[in-house]
Amino acid sequence: MRKKLRKFCPMCGKEVEKLTENKICLECENKLKSKKKKKKNSDDIIVCKICGKMKRSGSSDWFFPSEEDIKEAETKGFKEKTCDSCARMLGGYYEAIIQLRGSEPFLEEFKNLVINEINKSKEKNAFISSIERVRGGLDLKLGSNSIAKKFVRKMKRNKKVEIKYSKKLKTKRDGKEIYRFTYLLREVDENGKRKKKKR
Ligand SMILES: [Zn+2]
Ligand SMILES: [Zn+2]
Repeated sequence: MRKKLRKFCPMCGKEVEKLTENKICLECENKLKSKKKKKKNSDDIIVCKICGKMKRSGSSDWFFPSEEDIKEAETKGFKEKTCDSCARMLGGYYEAIIQLRGSEPFLEEFKNLVINEINKSKEKNAFISSIERVRGGLDLKLGSNSIAKKFVRKMKRNKKVEIKYSKKLKTKRDGKEIYRFTYLLREVDENGKRKKKKR
């Protein structure tokens, strides 16, 4: 019997029964909450309640706050909102799919490599909008194709993986044409051969 389909937290990659309304796991949600000592009274500083990015009122520019910015927000107070990229994440936006295929340890390792890549990035759409278990592996939907591309390029040096193909698909979203890219990363053995499934 197959295990019941469970959900992945796109922030930490853990497989859990249920996600919160911010589409993350309870643990990540609590971490976020404890990070932000609530003191909301200034209209001048706006903080994203999901990723912690900051913005000045009147500006449309979300940025990663420095230590000083955080101190300022803590003394002056701030307002909470959802930033543009987190709104996109919640809306399921994605530009690229990384398909991981292989054994459980391989999937776990490479899922975490993708998450690390995302966490390191300061790019605008540095988020995973979903991680799904599919036949033979995991599909990770990424908000930014340039991060996906960078990651896949790095993986070309990794002997554990064969990069099968990348394909471009044009689709429409809100009347605008966007491209979606798919990268297939399959586990191989030390001779570069695809690993046989144990049955
Ligand atoms: Zn989590
Ligand atoms: Zn955000």
